[in-house]
Amino acid sequence: MDQKYDMTIGGRRVGAERYEEIRNPANASVVGLCPMGTESHVEQAIAAASKAFASWRNSSDAERAGACQAIAKVLGDNAAELSVLLTREQGKPRKGLGSEFELGGCAAWAGFTVTQSLPVKVLEDSPKNHIEMHRVPIGVVGSITPWNWPLLIAIWHIAPAIRTGNTVVIKPSPFTPLSTLRMIELVSAALPPGVVNVIAGGDELGAKLSQHPGIGKIVFTGSIPTGKKIMASAAPTLKPLTLELGGNDPGVVLPDANVEQLAEGMFWGAFINSGQTCAALKRLYVHDSLFDRTCSALAEIARKVPVGDSMVETNLLGPLQNERQYRKVIELVEDAKRHGARALIGGEPLAGPGYFYPVTLMTHIEDGTRLVDEEQFGPVLPILRYRDVDDAIARANRGEFGLAASVWGTDRAQLSAVAARLEAGTVYINKHADIAPHVPFGGIKCSGIGREFGEEGLEAFTSIKVINAAA
Ligand code: NAD
Repeated sequence: MDQKYDMTIGGRRVGAERYEEIRNPANASVVGLCPMGTESHVEQAIAAASKAFASWRNSSDAERAGACQAIAKVLGDNAAELSVLLTREQGKPRKGLGSEFELGGCAAWAGFTVTQSLPVKVLEDSPKNHIEMHRVPIGVVGSITPWNWPLLIAIWHIAPAIRTGNTVVIKPSPFTPLSTLRMIELVSAALPPGVVNVIAGGDELGAKLSQHPGIGKIVFTGSIPTGKKIMASAAPTLKPLTLELGGNDPGVVLPDANVEQLAEGMFWGAFINSGQTCAALKRLYVHDSLFDRTCSALAEIARKVPVGDSMVETNLLGPLQNERQYRKVIELVEDAKRHGARALIGGEPLAGPGYFYPVTLMTHIEDGTRLVDEEQFGPVLPILRYRDVDDAIARANRGEFGLAASVWGTDRAQLSAVAARLEAGTVYINKHADIAPHVPFGGIKCSGIGREFGEEGLEAFTSIKVINAAA
């Protein structure tokens, strides 16, 4: 009998009339059964979160910090169970930058949130006025998450929301709901009932959340098209939004780069989680003078990275998470080949079962090809040649994306000058895809609105309330 997972609403386990099988992308075996929640579950969850908000909004700073500490502890204590479930459901390996790493990140982020605070600011203390600015909770936060880093992203949404006195209803991706259902079941037991609630089901539940008047704010991580729909459906109720959307991060390798030394950073910047990472390196512009050396250095690493069944501990990359993504990667690589691109390594799907695609480096490829212009979200890196740095910067800045970018080289002044001209929320120098809980993260252009992490990330879960007193 397959294991059944359930929703958690108001601190109670809630089932659904219908369950769907969730399958392991490495071998198609059934991981467990997901409840298919309905609009009535959305209503129940929002009602439970609203009820909890009535008292949680008045909780002390110490209680809120304590709640985040409790979340960090639950995640640490249950990391083994959750990481195995995450690997089986999501496909990422246990080791390397896989599920154990993701669980470590969850506990670290929740733990960091404990140390954060937004003290009252005195704006004026004069013979005339005493004016204070307070940061107050918004209400019920609706959290909608994707399938690539499902648990880490859930914690990015939940921990700052609770730390600032909000309550939460989270809806995970229909591709990876089980690990979130189980994580919230565990986390909820350590918190007052209704402070965090989880519902599962189809995309329509996300749409319902984003338009519901009982939701005070939406925090969404996912694709640009869905982000646009959410913004539209949140408009009638003027909900504040944090939108963390897609990226197509460029890297620019300058002529003085020591590519042999930097290749490892470029490789994992691109292939972390098999490229299924918003801020992964997704196109690499390399100066003509070191193009061949860069390709060789990356190919040498690629040949040594073990790809395969995620439960085998020596594997460092697993399958793509779902069939839709697998088909998209195949389609983009085939399209690039039709336009003259060549696979330096990889370039053909691996034999099944499972959605396995090898590490692929594509050369002889130009801007304007879909593989370069679109977010491929797979283990494929197009490597493009340039001769003039200004031209590389202009090409890197093309398109609607602006999540992150990187520049690689030796001369610090030139690195900084190029970094200043790359259009992105984060520009890395000699690294890529490096995030930390104290460093604000988010996109410009169509890659998003708002920031997560750091003080700015915490403030995003609050409203400003001014108390303006005559002295
Ligand atoms: P997606 O947009 O297809 O789905 C994300 C979530 O939105 C899912 O929970 C889905 O059920 C829900 N959803 C779908 N339609 C909806 C609607 N109309 N209203 C409300 N919710 C709806 O994205 P995905 O394929 O799961 O994730 C991959 C994308 O996420 C990539 O583009 C990636 O770059 C992006 N991403 C961004 C970040 C970041 O921090 N910027 C991080 C991770 C992933």
